[in-house]
Amino acid sequence: IRQKIVAGNWKMNGSKESVSSLVNGLLEMENSGSEVVIAPSFPYLSQVDGLISGSRIVLAAQNASQEVKGAFTGEVSASMLSDFGVKYVLVGHSERRSLYGESDELVAAKVKTIFEFGLTPMLCIGETLAERESGKTLEVCERQIQAVIDLVGISAFEQLVVAYEPVWAIGTGLSASAEQAQEVHQSIRAFLAKLSESVAEKVQILYGGSVKASTSSALFQMPDVDGALVGGASLDAKEFIAIVKTAG
Ligand code: 13P
Repeated sequence: IRQKIVAGNWKMNGSKESVSSLVNGLLEMENSGSEVVIAPSFPYLSQVDGLISGSRIVLAAQNASQEVKGAFTGEVSASMLSDFGVKYVLVGHSERRSLYGESDELVAAKVKTIFEFGLTPMLCIGETLAERESGKTLEVCERQIQAVIDLVGISAFEQLVVAYEPVWAIGTGLSASAEQAQEVHQSIRAFLAKLSESVAEKVQILYGGSVKASTSSALFQMPDVDGALVGGASLDAKEFIAIVKTAG
């Protein structure tokens, strides 16, 4: 049985003050069976790490460099993130892919470096609306996954989290239906099972894209949906806690 993960991606939002009140709000969450993760912007990692110490909340970063260290102005390394108590690192978020030109190969290189420093990549994949409408959803997801397999091997997927985030559902208020999510999650798992059944059985696959408390319980009932990667709704403590509650 796979533990559910509910992760909040705060994207480029927050201030010292809002981060403090959001985390304090989240600390009122009751214990439950799922793992709760939050991903603030880099400058707030240290602040959040301090606030969540001793709580059930786990820290994630939104990005990391593929390089280990050196003359890479403006970049943040995986070793720095591990210094700040980070467990997960989002990799290949669609905003990184589309706005910052991150290729499948670059995303794979980032996954490799993140592993080298003992952190867990949350590999984000997903199709655009045009790709879905032309029947390419699985082809795109498989291509994005295959690039990572080619570099780090299938066995690495045992220690990696996949986040299926259809681009058309991100920030649009238009979530995939639970059935649409399940169909893709099941296919991703079947794709991995062709290489390793045990890895496919173990890998946690999260859904992301306009997740709200009103839609999350149906999503979480799906057998291949192992949690959620929440954007906008994770900036509201009450809503995020309500989503965590539906994960059981
Ligand atoms: P929204 O929940 O705001 O649609 O964002 C989803 C997302 O991109 C999480 O990484």
